[in-house]
Amino acid sequence: MRHPALPIVLIAASLVAPASRQSFLTSSAFAQSGTVRYDVAIPRPETQTARMAMTISGIPKDRQTIEIHLPVWRPGLYMILDQAGSVRDVTAYAADVGGVGESAVAAKGRPLVVNKYQKSSWRVETKGSASIRVEYTIWAASLENRTRHIDDTHAFFSPSAVFMYAPEWRNLPVEVSLDVPKHWSVATGLGAAAPGGRLFAAADFDVLVDSPIEAGVHDVLSFDAAGGKTEFVVWTGEPSLKRPGSIRETEYYKKLPADLTKLIEAHEKLFGSLPYERYVFLAHCYPSGRGGTEHVNSTVIQFTPAAFRDKDAYDRLLRLCSHEFFHTWDVKAFRPAGLVPYDYQRENYTDLLWLAEGTTSYYQDVLMVRAGLMKPADYFKSLAKSIDAAQKLPGARVQSVADSSFDAWVKHSRATPDDPNTTVSFYGKGAMVSFLMDMTIRASTAKAPDGEKSMDDLLRALYQEFPNAKKGYTSDDVRRLLGGLLGSRAEADTFFADYIEGTREIDFAKALAAVGLRLDREKKPGAASKPDREGATPRDDSTLTLEGGGDIATPDEKAYAGVTVTDKDGLAQVATVLSDGPGFGAGLEPGDLIVALDGARVTSGAWEKAIEQRKPGEVVRVSFFRHDLMRETVLALASRPAGELKVVRDEKSSDAARRAYESWLGEKWPEKKDQKE
Ligand SMILES: [Zn+2]
Repeated sequence: MRHPALPIVLIAASLVAPASRQSFLTSSAFAQSGTVRYDVAIPRPETQTARMAMTISGIPKDRQTIEIHLPVWRPGLYMILDQAGSVRDVTAYAADVGGVGESAVAAKGRPLVVNKYQKSSWRVETKGSASIRVEYTIWAASLENRTRHIDDTHAFFSPSAVFMYAPEWRNLPVEVSLDVPKHWSVATGLGAAAPGGRLFAAADFDVLVDSPIEAGVHDVLSFDAAGGKTEFVVWTGEPSLKRPGSIRETEYYKKLPADLTKLIEAHEKLFGSLPYERYVFLAHCYPSGRGGTEHVNSTVIQFTPAAFRDKDAYDRLLRLCSHEFFHTWDVKAFRPAGLVPYDYQRENYTDLLWLAEGTTSYYQDVLMVRAGLMKPADYFKSLAKSIDAAQKLPGARVQSVADSSFDAWVKHSRATPDDPNTTVSFYGKGAMVSFLMDMTIRASTAKAPDGEKSMDDLLRALYQEFPNAKKGYTSDDVRRLLGGLLGSRAEADTFFADYIEGTREIDFAKALAAVGLRLDREKKPGAASKPDREGATPRDDSTLTLEGGGDIATPDEKAYAGVTVTDKDGLAQVATVLSDGPGFGAGLEPGDLIVALDGARVTSGAWEKAIEQRKPGEVVRVSFFRHDLMRETVLALASRPAGELKVVRDEKSSDAARRAYESWLGEKWPEKKDQKE
């Protein structure tokens, strides 16, 4: 079923008038009509460059200049990028004669003066031309940040990283023509404007920006899922995927359409309808591939070739697909007000990334379970890790998820060693406050006469109330909807004050009880034994099991230095000094090179074990280099709970909690006999 009011972005060719018919415009209407056309030419992809041409028509005769820009960020990455740094050879021409709609090598027309006046902005002296063409070259040599990449096997464009725009023409229809090698195919969420797979159309620049383009050698899996057409397009960097031993022959690749169908059906079931007619997964499968970016009816996902050969890596791929696909609603169908409309030349602030990213991270796994693609036991392991991480670092007591969202532009993608002391992630902590919100709604409505409610209802309400990508929802809207579900606006306000805008510690035991679960901590036999002093040589972790050896002083507690290290040529280099640990008091700094503990050599791989082998309260002497000068300090080790945190079913849970569990995960509460999973 489709949502009747959604602004579907697939524009049929017939809705977009050909550029050449737009030259009748009058000055009073110039910003309301006219067209923008982009001609992309990649004659030599191995040079990793593309020649771009932007043709704007409908310019008033009395207009003397036009300002054009390349955006300084791209959707989904809340960070200012230097996208204009790879732009060169910017030229402009009056395109009244010839030019429009034809290739960039056609008659160029009268040259116009073009001046760069800001890092990502140019001014063109149009001097009465009704139509101009701006040409420029981009160099695209990195897959990082998912912005743009060209090589001899493909070209990938996140449009805001390659297409300039003129603000007054931003709301007008757009056409994109691609002149790429003949043996390449083009995949994109954009609708085709002509047969042949080289000309595409978008309702406006914003839609283009949210529709990445993948042109090259790739394989396509096409299937219908939940009533929508779906394509999984995979680029691997190979000149051909039609070779023996390629990923196409693997079992996982063959079962991907069936598994994605289950996943898409679970998402559609939650929201009630698909906000698209066709959806495209643009997949980059290469050795360092990691992560994804959501777009309006497509996503760009990056992962390693192991995804098709290894069960764990395949599961990670499905979870990544689940995350990005959830964004089709959360962030694309309904958007935080601060992100609407996009301001392409500066930061777009919102305090709602905890809902845009955190809620998405929470639901990515819940929907994996509902789709039957993840066992509850595996989900509980992942949930336990997230719970453990949510408040163990000092930053959880310093920064709220609302502040973390707002500061994304200056903090999230610019990690510093101090982050664990002063920040939380709107992804990780955002997922846990979303989980808490879900459990709070479930617990408060468990006995409601009209049935149990959940965060599913809140998300559906956002989808129904804010179906138009042009009007975003605010924090106040979320409070109001939460208040409606809890039957109390005051309770919603308290929830926000405590957990969204505040840093109150989450009572996870209470939250888990709503669905019949409880927390447990795995006991490690002999966790606090004598340190291994024999030369203190580095050992593989697996050889350091200490069964039967040493004194078991406090098996529930382990020694804690509050210092994490990374490897620097085998030495332990301090990565973070946590403000709640003894390392902080002892004056250790990020960057210090630790060489010995109580005079015995310690390496990066052995640091953590070496500390855990001590007892809480023990005083240790740490020798380290700072600026290549030898230093020494002492720290009295603190203590932390030993053993891994676990989420388990509570056999003493109520029937109501078990029913809530079943509606939460779409799984039967297991009978005693099939407890083992
Ligand atoms: Zn995300």
